[in-house]
This record gives sequence, C-alpha cells and structure tokens, in this order.
Amino acid sequence: MNIEEQAAISQRIGQWVETHRDEAIELLKRLVQTTSVNNPPTGDEAACQQVIADWLTDAGATAETYALADVPGLQEHPAYMSGRDYNNRPNVIGTFAGSGGGRSLLFSSHIDTVYEGTETWTHGPFAAEVVDGRLYGRGSYDMKGGLAASMIAAKALRELGIRLRGDIRIESVVDEEHGGANGTLAGRLRGDNADMAVIPEPSNLRMYPAHLGGGIWRASFTGRSGIAWGGEKLVSALEATVDFARLVREFGEFRKRRDTPPAWWQNGSKPAEVAIMSISSGDHARELQEKVPATGELSFWIEGYPGQTGDELLADLMAYYETRLDNYPALRSCRPTIVPLIRYLSASEMPADERTAEFLSIARAAGSRAIGSEPLPDVGAPFACDGFMFHLYSATPALILGPEGANAHAPDEYIDLDSYLKLIRWYAEMAVDWCGLQSD
Ligand SMILES: [Zn+2]
Repeated sequence: MNIEEQAAISQRIGQWVETHRDEAIELLKRLVQTTSVNNPPTGDEAACQQVIADWLTDAGATAETYALADVPGLQEHPAYMSGRDYNNRPNVIGTFAGSGGGRSLLFSSHIDTVYEGTETWTHGPFAAEVVDGRLYGRGSYDMKGGLAASMIAAKALRELGIRLRGDIRIESVVDEEHGGANGTLAGRLRGDNADMAVIPEPSNLRMYPAHLGGGIWRASFTGRSGIAWGGEKLVSALEATVDFARLVREFGEFRKRRDTPPAWWQNGSKPAEVAIMSISSGDHARELQEKVPATGELSFWIEGYPGQTGDELLADLMAYYETRLDNYPALRSCRPTIVPLIRYLSASEMPADERTAEFLSIARAAGSRAIGSEPLPDVGAPFACDGFMFHLYSATPALILGPEGANAHAPDEYIDLDSYLKLIRWYAEMAVDWCGLQSD
C-alpha cells in the first residue's frame, strides 16, 4: 500500500466513523444498559455476552460462545484461580475472517464490571446517559467502551469493503475484575490467539506496552481484650492494625525511594504503589464499649513490576516490618497473620522483539492519523490487568490501548465520546496496516 492509498483509506474510515456516530454510541449504550456485574464467586455476564455474540453474527463475523468448563486443561493450569463459579458465564470469540496470508489481530476485552457501589451516582449507573460529550455508566470506561470500539472498527472495514488478508478477532471474556482473569486464560488455552493482541482497557488514548501487577492480602491481628483492673496484660489489636496500616503506607514510600522503576515507568507513568483497601477493629455489637479490642483486620494492595512475584512483594514488606519495630512497638507483641485474598496478578510486558517494534510503529502511525497528532510516548500502564495471561501463558503479545474517561470502579464512571470515536478509527487503521490489504 502506498502513501496515497493509505491516505484514501484513512479518509474513508474517518468519514464512516463520522456518519455512524449514532450507531457507535447506541452499541455502547446497549452494552452499559445490559448489566454484567461480577459478584464473586459468580457473575451476571450472560445477557451481555449474548448481545455481543448476536451483534458479531449480524455484523458478518463467525461468533462462538463457550463455557469455561469445556476448555481442556483450564482448571489444572497453575495460573487458574480456583473458588469461582462459572455456571452460565460464557466467553465469546468472534472472527472476521481475512482472505488469507495476512497477520491476525485479536482485540481482547473483559465484559464483567465491578458493582455500582454504595455511593451516590449523579447519573444512574446503568442508564448510559449522555451529557456534554460523556457517556456515564458502570463499565462505560472499564471497559465496554474499548470493546464496543473494537466491534465497530471491524464492522466499519467490512461495510467499507476494505478486505484484509489477516483475521480480526474480537474476544469478550468473563471474570477479569477481582483478580479473576480465568476467562482470559481460557481463551489462550483454547487457542483463540493471534499474531498480535490489543487489550482495550482504558488508557486515555495512550499506548501501554507493559502493565503493573498487583495483589490483595488480608492481615489479621489477635490481641487480648478487656479493661485492666486486675493487672492483666492487655494487647490492643486495634493499635496494631492502625500501626500496620501506617507501616504499609511507609513501605510504599520507602520502596519508591529505594527502587528505580523499569524503563516503562520512568517517563511519567505512576510507579508501583501500595494502598489500604479496608480496615476494621473493635466489637461492633454494641456502640458503647469499655474495652480494648481483641481483633483487627485490614486488607491491602501491593503493586509490582514485571518479573516480581506476589510472594516476593510480601516478603519485601515483612522484611521492612522487622526493621521498623522500634517505631511501632504494638507490632512487636501483636503480629499479623497474612493471607492472599486473590491470586497475584503478575505485571508483564510485550517482548522486546521485531514483531513488537513493527506493531508499535504501525499503531503509533495509525494513532497519529486517528487523533490528528502524535500520540504521547509509550509508557507502562499504571494498573494491573489480565495482560499477563498473554505474555506469560501464550505466544501472543498484547498492547493496552483504550479510551479516555474517568471514575473507573467509582460513582459517575464515564467515557469521553470524542475519544471513543477516535479509538474506533485508530483500531480500524491499525488493523488495515497490520493484517494487510487484500490485493485484487
Ligand atoms: Zn478493566
């Protein structure tokens, strides 16, 4: 394809997206309105998966819906997280077949969302209201927007009669939130792979060739309760829990000073951090208590870089713990019992090889045409996701690239619709250059 041909195709795709704006927004609305909330150990993704499978079929793809239980080797796989129920939670894989001889491109999205939460939304969590160029709703940003953009991009090429040599595949998996990622693993083991993958997680139109890892652990403290009238030695689990929360925060800062982040995180991307997720202590059966609490619990999240394991991160924290006991005497007498609450989501990165370099350059050039300016430099994603299922357990590299928006996992989650339309064009143009045009 020469420069003139490319410019002509680019213009046609751009025009198609402009004239099909309403259709693109309608699809996203429908996906947001069809709830697919992850409620561990179950989830209600089935209805939304059906919408996607039907849409793919109507758009000319072959679509398959399959149960995770039918994927050989899944439950025995070392990266499979047990304890989840996959009844009526199918995965969907659609293929827009190319004419042959080209490279394939897979868009892999998770359809599940976190629940709406207990906080108040200004715009109903499942109403998919459009206000001032934003579409609000749970999953609009994380990540039904990116998924819908990949669907519409494939349809655009088909309707425009732009025939590709390689296949475009669109995957919608269940159970990625809350440490799942078993749905993504199922697709890899089933062989729904490609020469390259894009994960349309929200990236604010920035290319993320790598992503952080993360895990959640629970620390439990047991002390001795009461009020020391008889001279008993009491141990406040509350004090230990609060001190441990401080120590975990301090560890996060200490690590940032001590460690130089890998190159992907040196150009302004948020480095690996820690966060306290919940804390509880005290006897809540009655409001008035005149005793020191005997139990305390807190859950915390630690992020890591490619190559680090969850066990290593925890061991690093506990080694730091031992050095800080003079500052936190409560932690000397009341030590935590720590258990992981989810499987550690590994960090991962695209392999540094020719194929990756060529794809990143194609993606960058397509991005320049789609957004009208050079995309920002590539960096590591400031979040954990299921990308490691590609990099550690398949031969398909995966680039994270998705829309702009905000409030993921929070009230008033939204996607910026202008970025959604740009993303559709970006995906379509990227697919043309990667999969190759069929020559007549
Ligand atoms: Zn997500």
